[in-house]
Amino acid sequence: MTDKNSFEVIIVGGSYSGLSAGMALGRALRNVLIIDGGQPCNIQTPHSHNFITQDGKTPKELSTLARQQVEEYPTITFYDGLATNAKKISNGFEITTEKGDVFTARKLIFATGVRDIMPKIKGFAACWGISVIHCPYCHGYEVRNERTGIFANGDFAFHYAQLIRNWTKDLTLFTNGESTLNQAQIDKVTKHHIPIVQKKIAAFEHHNGNIRQIVFTDNSTFQLKAIYARPHFEQHCKIPKALGCELTEQGLLKVDVFQKTTVDGIFACGDNASPFRAVSNAVATGTIAGAAINNKITEEEF
Ligand SMILES: Cc1cc2nc3c(=O)[nH]c(=O)nc-3n(C[C@H](O)[C@H](O)[C@H](O)COP(=O)(O)OP(=O)(O)OC[C@H]3O[C@@H](n4cnc5c(N)ncnc54)[C@H](O)[C@@H]3O)c2cc1C
Repeated sequence: MTDKNSFEVIIVGGSYSGLSAGMALGRALRNVLIIDGGQPCNIQTPHSHNFITQDGKTPKELSTLARQQVEEYPTITFYDGLATNAKKISNGFEITTEKGDVFTARKLIFATGVRDIMPKIKGFAACWGISVIHCPYCHGYEVRNERTGIFANGDFAFHYAQLIRNWTKDLTLFTNGESTLNQAQIDKVTKHHIPIVQKKIAAFEHHNGNIRQIVFTDNSTFQLKAIYARPHFEQHCKIPKALGCELTEQGLLKVDVFQKTTVDGIFACGDNASPFRAVSNAVATGTIAGAAINNKITEEEF
């Protein structure tokens, strides 16, 4: 392996969080490699909201500008592709890519995000991020006061019913099977005129991702404009776990306030380590991870 394959820091994941960490490290004159597979979780959403100065831009506009700005720092190198393996070596870590390239670094940052697992309902995946909404702060304003659904059950359905009522009063809860809300929750939801529909869903009928109606397995339908859902997710990248990084009960990488994981020398930032999924949070935690790693290296070298 040549010196050109050796870095002070490798950042796996070059979306909002990884680029933000990269900017902090580039400005700290660190020799950094950013490896990115180019598959951010918001890839399908037409517009990104609630990030100050960038409200309403497309996700791609945000990441393109971010990358251009990070590319201005000469100590940053970009590698487009997937990191597939990693191992601990005496003075840090070794990362192998899908194409078989091998890189080493003293420290690692994982800014790899999470992968949403689409329920097996026809049309769901096509509507994801367009009219099937994960977060009211990101997209609720655009469908305020519209006829809206919540696709959820149990405690989460109750929480979302409570929350989304702020954006629209024309709200219906779809539990897709028997409701698991407790009686107190049902009483409250009913008091606020939010019907609970327990019928099994067959499909989300849509036009270019814009939902028209829900079709139930009994062939009845329900027209609506938008529907909130929080599908299950998994870590987008399995490498941190393979290196021994602990996960929380929710399946997020366990980090401290400086974004340090439970493995020395490995940091994580953005969606893979935070339940609050927002570009602003990904950027903020990336900045913290970058600064924290730089601080650690300066301490070690001083
Ligand atoms: C549908 C949808 C709409 C959203 N809308 C908004 C919005 O309007 N406003 C807002 O603030 N937030 C929004 N969010 C949340 C926001 O997109 C995320 O919080 C943000 O993208 C997280 O950034 P990240 O860098 O942590 O991860 P991501 O943006 O998901 O990027 C992770 C990157 O890591 C790469 N990667 C993963 N594994 C590897 C590997 N092994 N090797 C190399 N690269 C790898 C991926 O390819 C990807 O490029 C939305 C999310 C979704 C799902």
